[in-house]
Amino acid sequence: MNLNIDSIKEQTYDAIVIGSGITGGWASKELTEKGLRVLMLEKGHQLEHVSGYVNATKDPWQTKYNGRLTMAQKESHPKLARDYPYNEMTETYWMKDTDSLYKEDKRFDWYRPNIVGGKSIMWGGNPIG
Ligand SMILES: Cc1cc2nc3c(=O)[nH]c(=O)nc-3n(C[C@H](O)[C@H](O)[C@H](O)COP(=O)(O)OP(=O)(O)OC[C@H]3O[C@@H](n4cnc5c(N)ncnc54)[C@H](O)[C@@H]3O)c2cc1C
Repeated sequence: MNLNIDSIKEQTYDAIVIGSGITGGWASKELTEKGLRVLMLEKGHQLEHVSGYVNATKDPWQTKYNGRLTMAQKESHPKLARDYPYNEMTETYWMKDTDSLYKEDKRFDWYRPNIVGGKSIMWGGNPIG
């Protein structure tokens, strides 16, 4: 259930879980099953299961840049651009590297999602195709 911020302020919770991936999802499941009132906070945008996977069944030639990264994408996502989960079709699933507070001294592949379900929803390959 999505709540607006005013209704959240009027509530009290036994636990607050940050993030809706496997970790947060499982923690929330365990806590709610024990009877706790749990608030889950998620920074990413909503991604509807199946209907939200708008590019999952596309072939590269059905996209503007043939599924490849543009120069702008390489500049905004210099770490993510090193790996396959980021491409023209998955643009909306990811936070920009340039918005991350993490500064990379030596290579560390910490990719930050920007969707409900996080990287966990991508793992099954559903939204990626
Ligand atoms: C394409 C792909 C394939 C993969 N394949 C495998 C595999 O085969 N085997 C394997 O073991 N692992 C695989 N992984 C890795 C695996 O998916 C992740 O390690 C795992 O899903 C991480 O789960 P998590 O709950 O810790 O994080 P996530 O699922 O990423 O969830 C974190 C959530 O927290 C939210 N969040 C972050 N910061 C904040 C904040 N400040 N406030 C609110 N919300 C916040 C994010 O938006 C996100 O929704 C794959 C990953 C990808 C992308």
